Amino acid sequence: LQKKYAAEQKLKTETTDGCRVKLCVNAGLLSGIGASIVDGADGIGLYRTEIPFMLQQRFPSESEQIKGYQQVLSAAGGKPVVMRTLDVGGDKPLPYFPIKEENPFLGWRGIRLSLDHPEIFLVQIRAMLQAAEGSDQLQILLPMVSTLDEIDQALSYVRQAFDELKIEAGCKITWPKLGVMLEVPALLYQLDEVAKRVDFVSVGSNDLTQYLLAVDRNNPRVSSLFDSYHPGVLRALERACSDCQRLSLPISVCGELASEPIGAMMLVALGYDNLSMNQGALARINYLMRRLSLADLQDLLSAVLQQKNGEQVRSVAINFLKQKS
Ligand code: PEP
Ligand code: MG
Repeated sequence: LQKKYAAEQKLKTETTDGCRVKLCVNAGLLSGIGASIVDGADGIGLYRTEIPFMLQQRFPSESEQIKGYQQVLSAAGGKPVVMRTLDVGGDKPLPYFPIKEENPFLGWRGIRLSLDHPEIFLVQIRAMLQAAEGSDQLQILLPMVSTLDEIDQALSYVRQAFDELKIEAGCKITWPKLGVMLEVPALLYQLDEVAKRVDFVSVGSNDLTQYLLAVDRNNPRVSSLFDSYHPGVLRALERACSDCQRLSLPISVCGELASEPIGAMMLVALGYDNLSMNQGALARINYLMRRLSLADLQDLLSAVLQQKNGEQVRSVAINFLKQKS
């Protein structure tokens, strides 16, 4: 089966009725970054910068970060790279920056921490901008945003880093595209305002599911309740996509849902045309999409949205796939 998928890996992803879907790859470990990372992909749709931070014994310096980001950008060979700023806190601890909290997932994580420590944030932004010097590949993504003020503050730090670098001799840096993760539910209802501030949004379906359903994404005791196919979650994803289409704000999905065949089918049916996933899922999702029509997927979606829970959603989708194969 893997061979069958691989044979089509380099062909573009398009449904049988001509709907083009961009497939990008999620990355994090620098050791896994080589030229093959974007094979058959349209770019790196999520680079989790916290992973190299987590593997060190101290905060990496600006020059160490520049080297790492250059490695990522060059592995992408000219294709776009969405680099997410530090998303520590929650389930992602830094050994040299302990955080003790009762509710870490509701606590000091992602952009919150970066804005409280501008010295860390500015170094990271400066490193990203310098690593991308002379190219237009870089897009910067802000994690865990829950307010418009956070976006405004983060943008002003990006502006500050950019202006500083512009005056430092010899720096030919370009202004990057900027985006926010859509993973805190409240932001779903402020997309009109978000669209005035950023160039794109990327749905973190893992955290969005966790926060919509109030289910810890890592707690085995409630893992059966963590379900991105819950019809309520699907409705939220539907709203996000239709609002972004209305606002001409590019939207993609970089959570686990995009890596799953049924998840990818639902997302394309909802109107998403840019999915970022684990490298291992890429060839399979491409193969699947090239055999389905958007019209059929939209019919499936109408049936799915009538279901009362995630289990029924999956079973309707599995029956659909059986009929197609
Ligand atoms: C997500 O929340 O879906 C996401 C992509 O980010 P992470 O899994 O790194 O929190
Ligand atoms: Mg997340």
